[in-house]
Amino acid sequence: MKGNKGSRTNSSSGEGAKTGPVRQTGPVGTTGPVRVLVHMCCGPCSIFPIKSILKESAQVFGFFHNPNIHPRSEFRLRLEAVKKLAALLDLDVLYDEEYRPTAFIKGMKASLLPEDKEGKPTEGPRCSYCYSERLEATARWASENGFDAFSSSLLYSRYANHGEIKELGLALADRYGLKFYYEDFRPGWQSGIDDSKDMGLYRQKYCGCIYSKMERYSKKKKKASAP
Ligand code: SF4
Repeated sequence: MKGNKGSRTNSSSGEGAKTGPVRQTGPVGTTGPVRVLVHMCCGPCSIFPIKSILKESAQVFGFFHNPNIHPRSEFRLRLEAVKKLAALLDLDVLYDEEYRPTAFIKGMKASLLPEDKEGKPTEGPRCSYCYSERLEATARWASENGFDAFSSSLLYSRYANHGEIKELGLALADRYGLKFYYEDFRPGWQSGIDDSKDMGLYRQKYCGCIYSKMERYSKKKKKASAP
């Protein structure tokens, strides 16, 4: 796991007292030093959540962990966009740079119910695994490294299952003895898009996994062949 702010290595060693109130269902309070680890799914989706959390918390660290992204070239593009954003925002980020698509696909398939295993995994069940894998990695890292709370840029997406992500975050917070920084970041959708364009960040064309890529391009094809 690499950590840096642009090129700076951060200390993610676990120091930092668990102080300051953190609400489970709203932005973190500002009355004490609070360390928040924020899962970053990509650059553009992270801008609005990170900016919002920075206003509320003493210390914010990003966490890039996205084994769902396919293929490797896309993984690198999104990783580089997060690095660029980190440098622009002067943000410390921990990077899980290892590309492990096989483990992700295996884990996702194993999580499916027998009736969902036929054919290509459908969006709902496969996304449940995808959310929980990434959120749990964030919670685990936060818990092992002295963070008070964790959050995710997944709460910014208009396309993700927001309610499910919130419930997962709250359940993981209980399991790992943390607080979940919950906020509905979706109202910042346009602001995030505008900022990402101004910053010149790479903007992806599909959610991330191989299935979302296939769906995106089959929709495009259908549209193009429509009379
Ligand atoms: S569509 Fe997006 S959230 Fe769902 S499994 Fe694929 S990458 Fe994950």
